[in-house]
Amino acid sequence: MLGQMQDRPLLISSLIDFAERFHGDGEIVSRRVEGDIHRYTYADAAVRSRQVANALDHLRIAHGSRIGTLAWNGYRHFELYYGVSGSGRILHTINPRLHPEQVAWIINHAEDEVLCFDLTFLPILKAIHAHCPHVRQWVALCDADSLPGDTGMPGLIAYEQWIAGQGTDYEWPMLDENTAACLCYTSGTTGNPKGVLYSHRSSVLHAYAAAMPDVMCLSARDSVLPVVPMFHVNAWGIPYTGAATGCKLVFPGPALDGKSVYELMEAEQVTFAAGVPTVWQMLLGHMQQNGLRFRTLQRTVIGGSACPPAMISAFKEQYGVTVLHAWGMTEMSPLGTLCTLKNKHLKLSAEEQLKILCTQGRPVFGVDMKIVDDAGHELPHDGVAQGELLVKGPWIIRAYFKGEGGDPLIDGWFPTGDVATINAEGYLHITDRSKDVIKSGGEWISSIDVENIAMAHPAVAMAACLGMRHPKWDERPVVVVVKKPDTEVTREELLAFYQGKLSKWQIPDDVIFVAAIPLGATGKMQKIKLREQLADYVLPGL
Ligand code: ADP
Repeated sequence: MLGQMQDRPLLISSLIDFAERFHGDGEIVSRRVEGDIHRYTYADAAVRSRQVANALDHLRIAHGSRIGTLAWNGYRHFELYYGVSGSGRILHTINPRLHPEQVAWIINHAEDEVLCFDLTFLPILKAIHAHCPHVRQWVALCDADSLPGDTGMPGLIAYEQWIAGQGTDYEWPMLDENTAACLCYTSGTTGNPKGVLYSHRSSVLHAYAAAMPDVMCLSARDSVLPVVPMFHVNAWGIPYTGAATGCKLVFPGPALDGKSVYELMEAEQVTFAAGVPTVWQMLLGHMQQNGLRFRTLQRTVIGGSACPPAMISAFKEQYGVTVLHAWGMTEMSPLGTLCTLKNKHLKLSAEEQLKILCTQGRPVFGVDMKIVDDAGHELPHDGVAQGELLVKGPWIIRAYFKGEGGDPLIDGWFPTGDVATINAEGYLHITDRSKDVIKSGGEWISSIDVENIAMAHPAVAMAACLGMRHPKWDERPVVVVVKKPDTEVTREELLAFYQGKLSKWQIPDDVIFVAAIPLGATGKMQKIKLREQLADYVLPGL
């Protein structure tokens, strides 16, 4: 017997319709590429999203066609999120920090027919536009007056001109909820990037999940600053959860330095922020140097790479801000786990609570997970056994765009490539990417643990732990360190700092000081590149 409830598909258009009807005066504030601050409301955004949909109809762009964006977090990008997906096309967000050749490769692989970009990225597009045969319309996200005259890009139009004159009414199509809505490529640390194709259903379910109290806990009383880019897994879904909750959205545009982010947070009374650890490091650095405090910030979700415990405690102890440590990936829309305490933890000491808060947290309802050994046998959730982490759920990938890489699933589970433990209470602790795992004398050493300890030293700005070949032990860890400006620490002092924090055999054999550690397009350390730079390195005593 079937249930007798209404069969309404879960559609992205319903999010913006809802925000317009019930949070019409909810604010959306953007720092523009032009440098000024732009303000409007969900109601304004809804009208302009419909104009985008009409502009796409006018170009006769078919349902299912891809519309690329190369853009910062801002209101025009937000309108494209809804106008493109809502009208049945696929929003393809591209990471502008990739090499231009890779950007062209992705545009061509996705067969983008319209490409919308912030003027910051004009040099990239000037260089590659002639090599992108599928693109029928280039759109610069600016007004007609700001459009440079001599771009050499035929047919380039300013966004404001493109949507001006388009009707403000649009009947969103009643799509099948499994229709593709957005496309996002993985950063492709090895090989070419692969496309992950989210559906309306997966995005709406993810928006519900993200708002839950033990996840981001977003509400119409929050002012939310996604520093995480809208080109990086849809800013972790915040543009959707924003419309679902009516929270104020504050978009930072291109200004991601500590000073600009801090000033925006204060001016817009931000209560909740989201970003990767490297961004927060710049923010904390700026605040410490200038003796600043937050007036309104309460919570910040940090993920994308392991958040060092030193950062979690600095936020809490120095600024009274709760860090929500989150783990996920492009293939998971991205939310997998997020760390909050359970009721029984409230009576623990601050130190014991911090230990829990430094893990990657518990699964969000909708995500199931397990860890397995090399033979694929499930391992116990005892907080000790570590193995490869596998996940499944309605916002987790089934296959890559165009079938790249074959069938990624193992008996219906997606292998994440991360190595982890899970404890009896469901808290996940990521110890490594499987390719970064260090095996010494038959035992595993967590590179993340080694890095986190170095990061707790006051003179360390960034640390990467690598396994180096060793004739007797297979591999031994070394820690590569970037010092904070105007600070000093010696190799011996740092090695002594590890004493008592790790077992003796887990302590690195050496410290290598470098001026910088290479970072990838999403702010993660690129250990493969770092390894190449240290190709001539030999462990002490060999
Ligand atoms: P990429 O395309 O580089 O894989 P993602 O953003 O999808 O970009 O990266 C996902 C990976 O980032 C995860 O599989 C994991 O290795 C790492 N990661 C994300 N969040 C965390 C975290 N909180 N702690 C440790 N690693 C993390």
